[in-house]
Amino acid sequence: MTTIVPTGAARLLQGGPIAAEIRVAVAEDVATFAARHGRPPGLAVVIIGRDAPSAVYLEQILRGCAKVGIEARFAELEGEATEAAVVERIQQLNGDPTVDGVIVQMPLPHSIRLRSVIDAIDPAKDIDGIHPLNAGLLRLGYDGFLPATAHAAVEILRRSEIEIAGKDAVVIGRSAVVGMPAAFLLVKEDATVTVCHSRTTDLAAHVSKADIVVVAAGRPGLVTGSMLKAGAVVVDVGINVVDGHLVGDVDFETAREVAGAITPVPGGVGPLTNALLLTHLVRAAQRQHPTGSNP
Ligand code: NAP
Repeated sequence: MTTIVPTGAARLLQGGPIAAEIRVAVAEDVATFAARHGRPPGLAVVIIGRDAPSAVYLEQILRGCAKVGIEARFAELEGEATEAAVVERIQQLNGDPTVDGVIVQMPLPHSIRLRSVIDAIDPAKDIDGIHPLNAGLLRLGYDGFLPATAHAAVEILRRSEIEIAGKDAVVIGRSAVVGMPAAFLLVKEDATVTVCHSRTTDLAAHVSKADIVVVAAGRPGLVTGSMLKAGAVVVDVGINVVDGHLVGDVDFETAREVAGAITPVPGGVGPLTNALLLTHLVRAAQRQHPTGSNP
């Protein structure tokens, strides 16, 4: 394990090379599954209105699937689709034996309740870990499907051989899909974890004591170098567009002078998120169709 010491210019924790390694392994697993079952693992992406802001991200997922041989498609509904229509479409995909994983475009249109959608997904096909069963398994420390972004935030530390056990970690953000699952994963890795949010009274005081800081707030420049403990490891999950540029939640230039290691945006957590989602899909396919079963 690497012990991080301040150097004045942090080690860059890049997600791309790790993601590339993962994709090679996924492509092998996909080929093995296809040889056994006569079809590759299948992903359906439920998309409600093509012009949604997340459509570009979802198209990237489809392209990533194609590269490793996964059969991925949009299950498309009109932008004005009712909640009942969305739930019915998800239930059809649950019943389709050639669909091994289902993800749903987020955020949902305002007229559709998140709870109705997450409850509708078959937990066995819930490869982004949003169903309450998978969230509960994570909470209890069991092996379910993890939300891919939270998984990536912790996996980038593990694969970069950053020591987590015994460290003080601060997670900024308490969303059900990123902040809280990242916090539970860090606890599982034996870190001591503080979760901060918009009502935290002195964010800087918490951050200044942390060995590991995971930032998932969606606020550009929220964490600056002056807030960090020297040598801290910083995982920037944020994705924001500022003046036409993609930036994280961390002020990269000041943070890299103080941190021991830091994930860049873009090129840090993002690429790993997409690659890990593919591993979740393959696992879902293997679990639903053990060797010897069809299709
Ligand atoms: P979210 O649901 O909007 O949650 C944001 C969290 O940050 C909330 O818990 C909020 O606190 C907290 N927060 C907001 N302002 C804060 C402040 N000034 N100080 C402290 N905490 C603050 O967002 P999300 O879905 O978790 O996503 C978080 C970020 O990750 C976004 O930038 C998103 O684009 C990015 N993201 C990245 C990936 C990836 O692959 N890298 C994937 C998904 C999302 P309250 O709970 O009190 O409101």
